[in-house]
Amino acid sequence: MSVFERIKGDGYEQVVFCSDDHTDLRAIIAIHSTALGPALGGTRFFPYNSEQDALVDVLRLARGMTYKAAAAGLDLGGGKAVIIGDPKRAKSEELLRSYGRFIETLGGRYITAEDVGTALGDMDTVKRETRWVTGCSHTYGGSGDPSPVTAYGVFHGMKACCLEVFGTPELEGRTVAVQGVGKVGYALCGHLTEAGAKVTIADVDVDNLARAVSDFGVATTDLAGIHALDADIFAPCAMGAVINDDTIIDLQCKIVAGCANNVLERDEHGDKLMGLGILYAPDFVINAGGLINVEDELRGYDRERAMTRVENIYKTLQTIFAASRERGVSTATAAVEHAQDRIRKISRIRMIRTAEFGPASIR
Ligand code: NAD
Repeated sequence: MSVFERIKGDGYEQVVFCSDDHTDLRAIIAIHSTALGPALGGTRFFPYNSEQDALVDVLRLARGMTYKAAAAGLDLGGGKAVIIGDPKRAKSEELLRSYGRFIETLGGRYITAEDVGTALGDMDTVKRETRWVTGCSHTYGGSGDPSPVTAYGVFHGMKACCLEVFGTPELEGRTVAVQGVGKVGYALCGHLTEAGAKVTIADVDVDNLARAVSDFGVATTDLAGIHALDADIFAPCAMGAVINDDTIIDLQCKIVAGCANNVLERDEHGDKLMGLGILYAPDFVINAGGLINVEDELRGYDRERAMTRVENIYKTLQTIFAASRERGVSTATAAVEHAQDRIRKISRIRMIRTAEFGPASIR
């Protein structure tokens, strides 16, 4: 399938292939939508098996960012970038700076941040060649690692879920099964245990597992059984597609709410969860804390303001749950409609002519 065939019909604006022989850079930047503002999304550095795989991934992730920003109420569009290669071997100062120069050529239509395979320090390096980067380290006036903020947002999102299902937002005494205690899952365990929840965790990484057990006194279970635990909340905080044909029949929880991206393997799994009476907190809504945090950095970072804005995830989820109830659609569908509705409405007001003169306005 050609690139144009692949992006046709899904509203993608621009796909940029970046190649630099000197540094061996091979990157793809996908801008899905700038209807609400510049396209913001992280740079994934990953050893894709093929260019096709990289393209499919970057397109899917870019579209997800459009919805995430729109649902979070941000004036941002959706984009994403991938660098093809093994970050442990291929990453170098010159490669990252070369990549930064390509971002600069887009003149602010795309703003990058860290993602899988890239870290804060990498963003500091990219920033030496372009202004269009956020999520930098504190040393460079940035907001630092967004993961704890993502966890804070998930924690508040879980409260909205509890209110919807149990009639009270309190997490005290609630049982929560957390799959993956990496950067976000670990911080989430901290909030949950502090709030008096009973937490059970599973992780493939024994060091991460031991750290959470030692710091928070959480219980552990086996990897294969975490999703099937008889808990109030199942929190996927590792990888995507964990709600699929095989796992959905095992679920005993009342709520699925975690930080992982693309939790549902297919859209229809959202309907299936609804059919089973399990409340699903749409991933791109509940895990938007990190995005809200790096967006705040673009304004001149204020931690307190960022955290307050992240708490709004609670209200956004309430709106989505209400729409789901009223219209009899899954929460996953209601979330996409919520985001699309905002894009439509704000795009419409942008059609009002203002006193901005330039080539576009005098055409
Ligand atoms: P991370 O790599 O720090 O943590 C992931 C954890 O999951 C690791 O401890 C890993 O060992 C564990 N894991 C991997 N496979 C597993 C499996 N099969 N079963 C159980 N555990 C497994 O990543 P993170 O930054 O904490 O992000 C977690 C998820 O949240 C990812 O899907 C990420 O895309 C998403 N997310 C993260 C942020 C953020 O701010 N970091 C924001 C939005 C979404």
